Amino acid sequence: MMHMHIAQNSIVDYLFHHADDFPAKSAFTILQEDGSERTIKYRELAAAVKTLAAQWKRESLAGTNVLLIYQDIPEFIIAFLACQYAGIIAVPVPYLKGTKRVARLLGIMEDAQAAAVFCTLDSVPHLERELTANAPAIRIIPTSISDAINSDGDTVAAQPNEISFIQYTSGSTGSPKGVVVTAQNLLHNQQLIKNTFGCDRDAVIFSWLPFHHDMGLIGNILHTVYVGCRCVLMSPYHFIQTPLKWLKAISHYRVTHSGAPNFAYDLCVEKIPPAELQELDLSSWRVAYNGSEPVRYTTLQRFAAYFEPAGFKPEVFYPCYGLAEATLLVAGIKESGSAATIAIEKEQVAGNSIRLTNKSDAQAQIIVTSGSVPEGMEVRIIAPGDGKTCGELEEGEICISGDSVTRGYWNKDNSSTFYRLDQRQFLRTGDLGFFYNGQLFVRGRLTDMLIIRGRNIYPYDIEQLVAGCDAAVETNGVAAFCVDKPGGELVIVAEIKRAFVQQLNTAALIATIARAVSGTFGTAVHDILLLAPLGIPRTTSGKLQRVKCREFYQAGDFNPIASLLAMEGKNN
Ligand code: ATP
Ligand code: MG
Repeated sequence: MMHMHIAQNSIVDYLFHHADDFPAKSAFTILQEDGSERTIKYRELAAAVKTLAAQWKRESLAGTNVLLIYQDIPEFIIAFLACQYAGIIAVPVPYLKGTKRVARLLGIMEDAQAAAVFCTLDSVPHLERELTANAPAIRIIPTSISDAINSDGDTVAAQPNEISFIQYTSGSTGSPKGVVVTAQNLLHNQQLIKNTFGCDRDAVIFSWLPFHHDMGLIGNILHTVYVGCRCVLMSPYHFIQTPLKWLKAISHYRVTHSGAPNFAYDLCVEKIPPAELQELDLSSWRVAYNGSEPVRYTTLQRFAAYFEPAGFKPEVFYPCYGLAEATLLVAGIKESGSAATIAIEKEQVAGNSIRLTNKSDAQAQIIVTSGSVPEGMEVRIIAPGDGKTCGELEEGEICISGDSVTRGYWNKDNSSTFYRLDQRQFLRTGDLGFFYNGQLFVRGRLTDMLIIRGRNIYPYDIEQLVAGCDAAVETNGVAAFCVDKPGGELVIVAEIKRAFVQQLNTAALIATIARAVSGTFGTAVHDILLLAPLGIPRTTSGKLQRVKCREFYQAGDFNPIASLLAMEGKNN
C-alpha cells in the first residue's frame, strides 16, 4: 500500500494520518451493558486528542508520570493518546472496585512516582478521599472527554517524549512491575504484530480484554490506531458473565481479528449452549490468537469441534507468546494450516533434552507451538546455570533481544533482568521453552516449576489432570504449588463449580484427585483443598497467582469447603 510518506515518530502520528485519509471512518465502537453502542470516528478521535493535549499543556505535566484511572473505554483511549501527544508519560491503572482498590492504587502511585491522576469528573470525590490522605501532593485532574470529542481540535504543537508509557505487568508472580516502554519500542512491536497477524485497514478487531493491560491496550487499541482499521470493544465483565457476547459480536460485526488467553476458549465451550450455535456465524474470523497463558491442545481441539457448525475454522487459531518487558509480542508467526503440535515424552529424563515420541504413545504429551519469531526479534534459549545457548529440543530460559525489548522496570535495579551475550543485551523472561523446526514451544515459568523430591514438574500438567478428574472441578480453577516441607510437598487447590457445591461428596472427590495425581506423577499429595467458586487468587487479567496461593495456604487464608489434611484429622 502507498501511504506513510512522512516520518512517524509516535503512535498519534498514525492517528492523524488516518484522520486525514478517512475522517468519517469508525475507529472504535464500544458495546455498553444495555446493548447500545458508542462509536468514535477517526476525525473525532484526532480532534479530541489534540484538544485534551492543549488543555493539559497548561498543567505543565510533560515528562512526568500520570496515572490514568478510567472506568470507561473511550475516555481512557482519548486520554492515553493525548498523553502521547503532550509528552506526558501515561501509567494505565486498572479501575478496581472493592477492598483491594485503595491499596493497589496507592501501591502503583508510589511505585510510579506519579505527579498527577487523570480521571473523569465523577471519580474526583472518591479519588480525593482515597489518595490525598496518603499523598497530599498528588494532583487529581478531571477531563471532560465529551467536550473534547465535539471540539474542532485545538492546534497545540506536539511535544513527544522518548518514553511512551509505563506498563504494569499482570502480577502473576508478585506485585505488578512497571515496565518502561519507549515510543520506539511501541512502534517496533506494532510492526511485528502487523507482520505476524496480518491486520490491515479492512480488518475488524474485537476485544473484551482489560484495556489497561498490554494485550488489550497494545494488541488491540493501539494496533487499531497503528493500522487504521475498525475496533469493537466490550468490558471484560460482560464477557465473564456472558461468554456468548464475544462470539455474537464476532458474528454481528464480521470480526476478523480477536483473541484471548486460553481459559476464555474453554469458557465458551462450557457456557454456550448448543442451541445458540445457529445464531452464530464465525466465518469472518481470520485470526483467533491465544496467548498470555499456556496454550492447551485439548482447549483448541474442543473449541474447534464445538464451534465448527457455526463456521469456525481450526486453522484460524494463532497461538502466540509475549510479555510486557518486550512491549508485547515475541512469537506467533504461523505457517498456513493448523498450529503445529508435537508429542513429547511426559516423563523427561535428566538434563534439559526434550524427547519426541508418537502421538499415539501412552506416555505422550501433546504440546502446542507458540509460533515462530518474526524478523526484528531474536530469541535465544539459554541453559540455566552455565549461560550456554541451547540447541534444538533443549529446554532453557527464553531470552530476547531487539528493538521491542524495553529498558526494564521503572525505579528498580534492572541488573538481573538482562544477560549480555555477544556484545548484545538479552532480556531474561523467566520463562522456559525450546525450539523445534524453527517454532518456539513455551513450557512455563521458572517460578512456577515444582521441584518435588528432586523432580521437575510443571504445575499446569497436574492442574489439567485434576480439572479433568470430575465434572465438579472448574476447568481453569486448579492451582498446584509446593510448600517448603523438606523435599517440597505438593499442595493442590481446586475450585468447585457453583452447581456442584451443595451435593458434593467431598471425601470421594479428594480421594479421586489424590489417586489420579499419584498414579500419573508418582508423587503423593501433601494436601488438597476444595474451594468455593473464585476461591483462587487471580490477577486483574484473570491469571492464576500460584505464588500467592502458597502464601495464602501457609497463612491459613483459604477457607476450604473440605481438605485432605482435615479429612485425615491432621493439621498442616
Ligand atoms: P508478572 O510478571 O507480574 O508476574 P505476568 O508475567 O503474567 O505477570 P505479563 O507480562 O502480562 O505478566 O505476561 C507475560 C507472561 O505470560 C509470560 O512471561 C509468560 O509467562 C506468560 N505467557 C505469555 N504467552 C504465553 C504462551 N503462549 N504460553 C505460555 N505462557 C505464556
Ligand atoms: Mg512477567
